[in-house]
Amino acid sequence: KPVTLTYRQTLQMRRNYVGRSCKLHFEVAPLKIVRASRQYLYDDTGNEFLDCINNVSHVGHCHPHVVSAGQTQMAMLTTCAGFLNDQMAEYAKRLISTLPDKLCVCFFVNSGSEANDLSLRLARSYTKREDVIVLENAYHGNLGNLIEISPLKFKKLNMQKKDWVHIAPCPDTYRGKYREGEVPNPSLSYSNEVKQIIEEVQDQGRGIAAFMCEPLMSASGIVTFPKNYLQNVYRHVRENGGVCLADEVQTGLGRTGENFWAFQSHDVVPDIVSIGKPIGNGHPMAVVITTKEIADTLVEFGSTFGGNPVSCAVGMAVLDVIQNEMLISSAKSVGKCLLDGFRAILPHHSMMGDVRGQGMIIGVELVMDKESKKPAKEAAEILCYRAKEQNIILANDGPGYNVIVLTPPLCFNCDNARRVIQVFDSILKSIETEAASVGLTSSGIDMNQSETGDVPITVISGTLDRIHQTTSDDDDGCSDEKRARYEEMD
Ligand code: PMP
Repeated sequence: KPVTLTYRQTLQMRRNYVGRSCKLHFEVAPLKIVRASRQYLYDDTGNEFLDCINNVSHVGHCHPHVVSAGQTQMAMLTTCAGFLNDQMAEYAKRLISTLPDKLCVCFFVNSGSEANDLSLRLARSYTKREDVIVLENAYHGNLGNLIEISPLKFKKLNMQKKDWVHIAPCPDTYRGKYREGEVPNPSLSYSNEVKQIIEEVQDQGRGIAAFMCEPLMSASGIVTFPKNYLQNVYRHVRENGGVCLADEVQTGLGRTGENFWAFQSHDVVPDIVSIGKPIGNGHPMAVVITTKEIADTLVEFGSTFGGNPVSCAVGMAVLDVIQNEMLISSAKSVGKCLLDGFRAILPHHSMMGDVRGQGMIIGVELVMDKESKKPAKEAAEILCYRAKEQNIILANDGPGYNVIVLTPPLCFNCDNARRVIQVFDSILKSIETEAASVGLTSSGIDMNQSETGDVPITVISGTLDRIHQTTSDDDDGCSDEKRARYEEMD
């Protein structure tokens, strides 16, 4: 019999027994999702939510082909570390067939963090060097040395940057160091910064082991790279004897709608690729794929669960669905619906600063006004809470938490996209009206800035205060209406 706790019990037990640093998607009135199918989530009272953020459920929540592949294999054999198994051999071959020829050796692990950790080890064993270049605001995982190469995290944790870590500016042409229209060639200026870091490291008698980045930065608020940036950077790194690592944990498997892998949009071939999240459609698995020369330098590697037959069967089923349901071209066309829809409303919103992305990985940056570009974090947070009230799940992310991020399952369709745009449009209009009514119009009358540069509009207007007032330890944060429904169910 499945465990059925009441909402309050689940919430209370979570508060009692799970680390508080493990954040819930909505801290106020968190959702208890009990079932999911395709691009929809269902809560414990039967409400349906349109899921715009679960990139892990890549081919759709609980896709029957994937579920059945996992169930069948689980009933046959679940473990095989150290033995031959067909599933691993076939899955490795199929993955490799999606990649350029030189990327032909797989290592199987269990999470994106493990994959990036192994990528780093491989880079170091091959180059016999230690230093790594990463991009400002990057996130590469939750293991110790990955936090050290994730400026987004170590800055928030107030950790000291390690000597072996070098941070190049995020090639963001909207709010970064070199902006479109402000410098003649932002792409070149950004790639020259990497070149300069390499030269400085060389001057200290050291060399770069690796340059690691996502081909489209996700946690950094969806930053797409200017043309030729990655080509130039890869050339500089290789001229110095370093290797190029692509973190495709979020961007891989056709999400960008152009190709199977996001790096392919930049006409580059990395030396090591980490993949994770979507490859198991929710089943925890990840893979590192590299060249034979690099792979052979690793003396020893073992993972208890990596490459087990269930994971590989699930992984193959995911690849089947991507192909059978033509999800890459769908990511392109539905992604275009989303991007075009957001771009069409952008001129009508004083707080919509930028719309960017590729395929079904999209970011909409909210700002206090278009001139100052001050991040509108609270507006973004309120927008997500209000969208939830209209049964749409969105997220705000990026270094200033002011970017509304959309990374839905790839079965998301154009009707879904239109609904999201319409709801987003009307909520943002109401937020803008509210902001204007307290004097925070585009001329920025009350620039009462906080330390982060964010303007606390809603602290003034009270909206976020009202949302957060409901979060005390013994309060479930539910609306009266919802609480009444729970009581009925109890
Ligand atoms: N790389 C990127 C770009 C990610 O977004 C994440 C997870 N958010 C990771 C690595 C780490 O993956 P995992 O959480 O599966 O360890």
